[in-house]
Parts: sequence; C-alpha cells; structure tokens
Amino acid sequence: MKGLNIRQTEYEAVIGLEVHAGLAVNTKMYCGCKTEFGAEPNTQCCPVCTGMPGALPVLNRKAVEYAIKAGLATNCSIIRYSRQDRKHYFYPDLPKGYQASQHNLPLCTGGFLEIEVNMSAKKVGIRGIHIEEDAGKLIHDESGKYSLVDYNRSGVPLIEIVTAPDLGSSEEVRAFILKLKTILEYTGVCDCKMQEGSLRVDINLSVRRRGESTFGNRTEIKNLNSVRAIVRAVEYEAKRQAEELEKGRSVRQETRRWDDARGVSYPMREKKGADDYRFFPDPDLCPIVIDDAWLNEIKSSLPELPDEKKKRFVLEYKLPAYDADFITGSKQLSDYFEEAAKRCRNHRAVCNWLMGDISKKLNESNIEVSDIPVSPENLAKLVELTDSGIISWKIAKQVFVVMWDTNRDPAEIIEEKGLRVINDTEEIRKVIIQVLEENPKAVEDIRNGKEKTIGFLIGQVMRKTGGKASPGIVNRLIFEELERLFHE
Ligand SMILES: [Zn+2]
Repeated sequence: MKGLNIRQTEYEAVIGLEVHAGLAVNTKMYCGCKTEFGAEPNTQCCPVCTGMPGALPVLNRKAVEYAIKAGLATNCSIIRYSRQDRKHYFYPDLPKGYQASQHNLPLCTGGFLEIEVNMSAKKVGIRGIHIEEDAGKLIHDESGKYSLVDYNRSGVPLIEIVTAPDLGSSEEVRAFILKLKTILEYTGVCDCKMQEGSLRVDINLSVRRRGESTFGNRTEIKNLNSVRAIVRAVEYEAKRQAEELEKGRSVRQETRRWDDARGVSYPMREKKGADDYRFFPDPDLCPIVIDDAWLNEIKSSLPELPDEKKKRFVLEYKLPAYDADFITGSKQLSDYFEEAAKRCRNHRAVCNWLMGDISKKLNESNIEVSDIPVSPENLAKLVELTDSGIISWKIAKQVFVVMWDTNRDPAEIIEEKGLRVINDTEEIRKVIIQVLEENPKAVEDIRNGKEKTIGFLIGQVMRKTGGKASPGIVNRLIFEELERLFHE
C-alpha cells in the first residue's frame, strides 16, 4: 500500500496487545502429559487433554506460580481469589468445545511496564494476566481435501498478558514486546522462542482523528510470532484504516489475519464479543486461592530484573547507560558479561568485545548467546593480555578469530604463533634501518618537508614485524634514525 503515511495525517493509531506466552513448565495445565516442542504428533496426550467424557482436570501448581511471577515482574497486583472459566467456541483443534481460561477474575491485574522510545519514557498499562490452556494444532493437507489434528499442544499452559490501549506506533509496540520478552526470559517464565510459537501476539488496533477521545472501530490481527511481522502488521493496518476513513468509509470490526509473505492483512471473521463465548465458571475446577505464605515464597524466588540489573551495571562496572542497556537486554548476555568481568580488571573492554566482534559474529553465524564458542574465562584472559601490553589491540583481534574457532586459551595461541609484542629496541631498530634503506625516495621526501610520509614508513615497519612491534618504540626510533640520516 503506497501513498498515505499515517504520521503525516490527522489520524493516530490506538494499539493494545494480547500476548500469549507458553509457560516453561514440563507438564500440561490439567494433566501430566509432557509439553516438549517438536514431538511426534499425538504422542503427548491423554484422555484429559483430548477432552474424553468423564476425564477430570487437576490444575498445574507450577503454572500458577509462573503466572504470578510474570505478574510480579510486570508490577501487577496479585488477586488472592480467582477462578477459571470456560470459553466456548467450536473448532476441530479444541476437543472439549471450550478452552479453560479466566474471564472476570484473572490472577493478576493493574500492572505496567516502562518503555523508552526516541529518548522518552512511557508507561504502558497491563490490564491483566490470566492463565489458560492452549488448543491443538491443525495441519492442512496441501490438496485442500482434508486436515489432520495434533493434540500435543492441547492443554499446554499459557498466560495471556493484556495491555491497555496505550501504544501509539510500531516503535512503541516493538519496544514493549522486547521489554516483555526480556522480563519473561529473566524470570524463566517463558523461553520466548518466537519461532517455536512460545510467544504469540494479537494486535488490537484502531485509528481516530488526533485529539479525539473516543475510540474508532478496531480490528484484531491474530497470532503473530516474530517482532518483524508485528511491526509490519501494525504499520500496514494503521495505514489501511486511515485510508478507509479518508475515503469516507468506516472500518469494519473484525478479526484479520496477517500474511507475512505478501505483507498484507485480510479479513478472517467477524470479531466475537465476550457474549459469543458464553463464559461461565468451570465446575470441574476449584477457585484458585493464594495465601500469604505462597505469595511470599514466589516473591522471594524472583531474580534481579533487567531494569535493576542495568542500574547495577552502570554503578558497579561503570558501563555507559547505553551499553548497560544493550548487555542487560538479554539475560544470557548479561550472565556472560559478569562471568568474564569478574575475572579481569577492564570491564569496559569486556563490554566492547560483546557489543562489537562477538555481536557481529553472532549475527553472521545466526547462533544464540548460550552457544558463544569463546568461554568468558578465555575472553577475560584476552582482555588482560591486551591491557598488560603483551599483545597489541590489532593482534588481539587476530587471536580472537582463532579463539572463536577453537576456544583455546589466548596465551597458548600467542606463544604458539609468536604474536607477543616486540619490545626489544635493538631488534626494532634493525628493521627500521632496513626499511629506510629500502625506501630512499620516501626518506628524501621527508627531508624536503613531506612529513606525512613518515606514516608510510611506520606502516612498512609494522608490516615487516607482522604488526607486533611496539608502536611507541617504533615511533621514537624512527625519528631517531631519520635524524641520524639527515645529519650524516
Ligand atoms: Zn494429557
């Protein structure tokens, strides 16, 4: 869709999100079936999660704990008495004909997360977090004649995090998702592997004239599972709705699907209201009561969260705020940083390696932080070797490449390849004399005042020593030797 850029129009987007996060628990919400991803179809199910008549559910305590952890980490109040409701709809991947969810009394309410976009901070409200079970999965045959159903996912524990409509742009949506993802990873509530569907996002979006307080008709785009797709879908849909209004038409309240390959959203069905689901309390499930002891136990199990850690990294390791933000943006990266930083004195250097060469390598080879082939111990050694002047910065980069391929001790690599800095004055002087002899034209130019040529000669010396000559010594000696030549 070309033409209209919503930022340049009188319209603004109003966006709320519903985020489904698969809980990192080993068993399903109401039975003991495994939740492992990628198993053979229908090998992780039983009468409970396939909705057989007479099978009764038992709530997974750990799932409730994880949901509460997510609530505490997002500044929510924890509701001490909540219940589970049946949400009815008909679909072949939903064997019971309803999904066990929470409607009026979710576990957590009234939270918020702070995001930062273009240097300005914004609070995004979280209306609630509730637990629910996932549905199975339909696999449509390519012929279009039939579909198969896999119930491995049926009954897998989820939380749904519902935000207030506080987001106004794709940048804000992106910042929010990344922040939430980091928090869920830190708390261990969800592994956040979006490519495996453990974090899926629905976007509720409407547009209205700037300054208006009533909401326009909204659409819901379902089941987005990459940050890139979410950003593109938000931009597309805001533009589409603004164009409809511009043309004097109204926006239809509907559920839409995002086609990432074509970069468009298209209507799926008319949007259901709460009444359509005929919610009622599940008579097979008891209310969930959380007492002080349990809540305190969960509170004390919460780890340090990204915002706190960022502040600590600035204070303790003297990292610039931007760098601390980058490093603490991933739990694994911040753990790696601390492992290396406690073994050497130059913490900034560790941070620079992580933000520079290591990040570059990770992007190139598309591997996770947990699979960095250089151990934190060896990175710390490399930093110490560079700082103490045993190798130059330039050589350190070469050593790093070997470490990446082998994870060997950098000291060993340096000895084996003879990469130590040459501090021997006489050895360096010999090379300089040789270079001066070989480049009479350059020497002549310098004598005639073209001082820039000295840089060329230094380069020749470094080349002859394989970059190992101590730059300080080379600088001093080259002037000495030139002086001597000129006074001969
Ligand atoms: Zn089961």
